[in-house]
Parts: sequence; C-alpha cells; structure tokens
Amino acid sequence: MAKDNKKQVEQITDMEVDFAQWYTDVCKKAELIDYSSVKGMFILRPLGYAIWENVQKGLDAEFKKTGHENVYLPMLIPESLLEKEKDHVDGFAPECAWVTMGGSEVLEERLCIRPTSETLFCELYSNIIQSWRDLPKLYNQWCSVLRWEKTSRPFLRHREFLWQEGHTMHATAEEAVEETHRMLNIYADFCEQVLAMPVVKGRKTDKEKFSGAEDTYTIECMMHDRKALQSGTSHYFGDGFARAFDITFTDKNNKQSYPHQTSWGVSTRIIGGIIMTHGDNNGLKLPPRIAPTQVMVIPIAQHKPGVIEAAEGLVSRLSGAGFRVKTDVSDQSPGWKFAEYEMKGVPLRLEIGPKDIENGQCVLVRRDNGEKSFVPLSELEETVAKTLDDIHDAMYQKAKQNLLDHTYPAHSLEEAKQLQAEHGGFIKTMWCGELECELRMKEEAGMSSRCIPFEQENLGDTCPICGKPAKHMIYWGVAY
Ligand SMILES: [Zn+2]
Repeated sequence: MAKDNKKQVEQITDMEVDFAQWYTDVCKKAELIDYSSVKGMFILRPLGYAIWENVQKGLDAEFKKTGHENVYLPMLIPESLLEKEKDHVDGFAPECAWVTMGGSEVLEERLCIRPTSETLFCELYSNIIQSWRDLPKLYNQWCSVLRWEKTSRPFLRHREFLWQEGHTMHATAEEAVEETHRMLNIYADFCEQVLAMPVVKGRKTDKEKFSGAEDTYTIECMMHDRKALQSGTSHYFGDGFARAFDITFTDKNNKQSYPHQTSWGVSTRIIGGIIMTHGDNNGLKLPPRIAPTQVMVIPIAQHKPGVIEAAEGLVSRLSGAGFRVKTDVSDQSPGWKFAEYEMKGVPLRLEIGPKDIENGQCVLVRRDNGEKSFVPLSELEETVAKTLDDIHDAMYQKAKQNLLDHTYPAHSLEEAKQLQAEHGGFIKTMWCGELECELRMKEEAGMSSRCIPFEQENLGDTCPICGKPAKHMIYWGVAY
C-alpha cells in the first residue's frame, strides 16, 4: 500500500478498539456529516445527503405505488393543539422546543417546533373528512422534526433530523391495521432488498410503544457491535386521536363514526444503521442499491496518452447503461484515490491503465471483500451489473449471519444477563407480558425489550423472570 494512502486509512480508529470512536471517525472522515455551532444539530454533507436522497427516492416510490400522496404541513404547533391528546403530549413534552417570540413581540400562545406531526394532521383531517367517501386519507410528509435531546450522535440522535411521517385515516379498524402492516413490510423490504440490512419484525411492548398509539410495530436491526437499532416504526392509533380531535365521518349507514388512524416513519437514523451494519476498518461500505456512486473509475498512469479518455469512456458507457458512476482524474496518486473511495464506501472500483487499454480490459475491485478481477471491455456492462448484485447479496448474507450468530435463547434472567455481558446481541426469552418483568430485565441485565417478533417460537411455558405463565417470546437487547 502506498505511503500516502496508509496515512489516510490510519485516521480511522479500529472498530475492535473502540466501536463508538470508529463510528464517529467514519461519519467525519468519509465526509458524511459535520458539526454545527448548535449542540446536537448536524450538517449533512453531500455524501450523507445523497444517501438520504436515495432512501427518499426508493421509499417515496413505494409509498406512491400504494396510493399515498405527499403533503407539507407547518413546522409550528400551537400549545393548545399539542395538548389535545394526553398520552401524546406527555410523551413528547420533555423534548419540545418552543417559539415564544415573533420579532420583538412575545407571542400570546407559545408554539412548539414539531417533534412529530400527529396533532397537525388531526387538525387537517378534522376539517377535510366528513363522509365515508373522504376515506381513506393516505398522506405522507417529508420534513425535519426537532426533539431537544440531551445527548447526540451523528445520524443516530440529532436534535433536528430528516424523516418521513405517514399519517393515514381509515373507515374501519381492520383497514387501519392492514395499513400499519403494509407500511412496516415496505420498510422491511426496503431494508433487506436495498440496504442489505436483515430485520426482525415485531410488535413493541406497551412500555416501548409510541405515545398515544394502541400498537407500535417495528423493524429491529443488529449492528456490527451487536447492539440493536430500531430502524422503522409503524403505529396503529385506533380512534383515540380522532376522538380527542373530534374527527368524525358519516358512514355508509348514515351514522356518525370515528375514523381509525395510523402513522409510520423512517428517519436519517437509518444511515447510521447502514454505517454500523456494513462498515469496516477502511471506512464506509455502501450497499450498491443505495450508494450515490456505485462505480468509481480510477485511471492508472493518467499522464500517458489515451488513459483519461479511456477512463471517461468507461464512465460514459456505464452511465449510459444506468449505473451511478464517476471518475477521479485529479492529480492525487492512484493509491490515495483507492483509499479515499474505499473510505467513502463506493461498492466497485474499476482501474484502467495503458496495459489494460492494450489488452482490451479493465481491473475490477470489490469494496466488500477486496476481490480483484479482470474484465474484458466487451463484457463491461453485464459484469458490472452482476457484480453489484453479488455485492448486495454478499453484504446481506454477512449481516444476516451476524444476526443469526448473535441471537441467543435464555431460560433464566441470570442466563440472559450473562449472555448479554459475554456476547451482546439479541437475547430471546419467553415473557409473561408484565411491565414489572420488563423493568427488571432493564435494571438487572441492562436490556430493553426490542420487540415481540411476529415469528414466534416456544422456548418454554413460563416467564423466566417471574415464573408465571408466558404469553409471548420476546427479543431483548442493548439499543442505540
Ligand atoms: Zn414475568
């Protein structure tokens, strides 16, 4: 490895030495993020934002396919509106930031900067829903929200973060529940098929569910350090908000009814998930279907005649075939460029120099496993397409193996505690369904409940914490 590129790689702390520092280093050195002058508020740099744009494009297409429309609501919520649903306001009050002045005037009513927009959507729906013909309402909003967190970490916890929040209204509970599952499945498929992140799908316990929800469904992913990341949630509200906000409609039998509601969201925290699922000690490793640049072409001995033109020729062929491809013809050494784009997670590198031109080939190097091969230029497009798919599959399989290898059954609180301390990961146990046992697990083993998986297993008849009859199999873990 050339001296200059080694120097650059050394700037990242090894993940085995200090995972948290490795993560921060990658966010900073791969130029995903920068700090701003307001604590807890981050700047998404072009690469970080481009990943988000691709998340947006992918999910938005799925939302549209399933009949949703995008809207935009104000960022300020009057205090009186926020207070209409009690559980909801209790859940968010500690994190609200308030606008109290407009210019030099003190406002008559303070305005909350939206931490989430249920209340605003309810106000809108109370105005526009009158009859069963107005249902369902399938709205989504792409926006930023603000939660005054005490601690912050790039992507994982920002005071202001980007997300989408879907808010839908339905004539019946069945339809709303179905919608809640439909959207969770869209998130799960997107995670697995685009981000190469395997998920565990399930339901949150009452303690962990969203403020004001009847049920919260979640997808939980396991990071490389075996901690859990909640990567997307979908909530069923029943008609609780509709009652609080007096949203009614005339049903087909000419009776006044309350509609049933859902909300669902994915945020920029998913980018933290991509980093921590796939990254390595050379930096970021982006799954090909989300990578803003899928292929980086590096000219070798670019001062020689025809080399830059050949590199540019590869770019134009590949972009013509629909790939996201770039070249770097700056005066940095090839070694520097290799390390730079490895750090930035570009899935595939093509090298082309005078000898390759002569032989009608280029060199192909995979970011995920470092494998190097020669590609005849006549087979360029199909080889790149196939290799990108192979990289996706290999990254998914590796992450899946990590999840399988580090999910452990436990039959006593002591065993759960010991497994977590020794291995980390997900610990699965039976559970009686009581809050008391959930709190004990948190207190004694440091684990929160992640979800009650839809795919249940029978690990025994009793709750290992209290000995009472078990109701569910549940996953526990240490979460971000
Ligand atoms: Zn119990």
